[in-house]
Amino acid sequence: MSRELYERAVAIAERAYAPYSSFHVGAVVRARDGRIFEGVNVENASYPLGICAERAAVARAVGEGCRPGDLEEIAITASPCGGCRQWLYEFKFDRVTFKNAEGEVVSRTPAELLPETFEL
Ligand SMILES: [Zn+2]
Repeated sequence: MSRELYERAVAIAERAYAPYSSFHVGAVVRARDGRIFEGVNVENASYPLGICAERAAVARAVGEGCRPGDLEEIAITASPCGGCRQWLYEFKFDRVTFKNAEGEVVSRTPAELLPETFEL
């Protein structure tokens, strides 16, 4: 399933709005109830206002009623940044599949991606 989700993330990455970096990223979330949520990165002329693909996908899931623990896995066409790793940890994904810096598609748990993370 992770590989299928990853291929879907690759397919939607072209929808990204990335006129400044041309770095297109796609992310696809699968909820435990089987629902699928897609996201792409959206840049802005004011750089810090941009949003990463994985956070866009999670925000979409939350807008449809999902909460931490409801989302089983996510596939991303790039390695998640530090801020996104915090989101992935908080939403308690079982598995995060992404293309790492070496170009390999790998699966990790959020705790592996962000050990000893911040919690409130
Ligand atoms: Zn990010």
